[in-house]
Amino acid sequence: MKKVLITGAAGFLGSHLCDRFINEGYHVIGMDNLITGNLDNIEHLFPNENFEFYNHDVSRFVHVPGKLDYILHFASPASPIDYLKIPIQTLKVGSLGTHNLLGLAKAKGARVLIASTSEVYGDPLVHPQTEDYWGNVNPIGPRGVYDEAKRFQEAITMAYHRFHDVETRIVRIFNTYGPRMRLNDGRVLPAFIGQALRGEDLTVFGDGSQTRSFCYVDDLVEGIYRLLMSDYVEPVNIGNPDEITIKDFAEEIIRLTNTSQEIIYKELPQDDPMQRRPDISKAKAILDWSPRVSRSEGLKITYDYFKSLPEDKLYQKEHNSFEKYIVK
Ligand code: UDP
Repeated sequence: MKKVLITGAAGFLGSHLCDRFINEGYHVIGMDNLITGNLDNIEHLFPNENFEFYNHDVSRFVHVPGKLDYILHFASPASPIDYLKIPIQTLKVGSLGTHNLLGLAKAKGARVLIASTSEVYGDPLVHPQTEDYWGNVNPIGPRGVYDEAKRFQEAITMAYHRFHDVETRIVRIFNTYGPRMRLNDGRVLPAFIGQALRGEDLTVFGDGSQTRSFCYVDDLVEGIYRLLMSDYVEPVNIGNPDEITIKDFAEEIIRLTNTSQEIIYKELPQDDPMQRRPDISKAKAILDWSPRVSRSEGLKITYDYFKSLPEDKLYQKEHNSFEKYIVK
């Protein structure tokens, strides 16, 4: 039986990856320090004898006994509010954490897939973003802790590949949504759906003309699985190129939730990218992958998930306790 280590296993993407690899017949070791992850996301896997969970911070030395075939590094805070609350942890997990996992991959002879991000393109001057665009990132802005950690992560991953012959894969993930997103992490989709469910107005930042392109989580997981199994070493964009302005997106959520909320406008956060859409030609050509779930289908599933949560979750500020991790 093949063995895979998934970091960030209790998070949104990590938990969906655990499900996928369990369904594919792997032995899955999930690892998470639960700063932003939530065990509710993987509770259903604990009775499975092919699933193990380690509560561990990958920024510190990572040990896994026995053989290991694959590593997927998905541990990281991933919303602008998280970067503001835990900037040092964000930097460490992308840099020191990645270093530890590459070292583990080298020691075990495992293939490692690193979760990178469209944030490496910053506020992009090339549209849509192709993998050969080097980006437009502000290193010292509020998002710098994430963007630069992820850029360093790509650099060290390629170095381990070139210098140590480690089998590496890099996925650049664009905005992704689906069940198990944190309701209050500040990202736009849970923010809008949470507001609609609480009967609050929807907060659009800026004038709402900035764009994003939203990919349903099952499509993303399929792309990641194919990339891991491929022999392609350089970064590959995985995302849905169906682009929409944030204002139009808010209107879509209002229609979806059938509520009478209005849109209110708030200040645009610093360094908020004005446009974002993946060029997925590479994923199509190399992985024969393209997204299948339309935004209307995916949003309906996601809305049903948020609606099914206990009502007190809607009003809970955060399920996790950042405070004890805040390093000053
Ligand atoms: N946004 C918004 N209202 C909110 C939360 C976010 O208008 O309540 C905007 C945000 O300014 C950005 C976009 O939605 O332009 C996507 O934000 P998110 O934090 O989800 O992800 P990003 O793609 O910026 O990392």
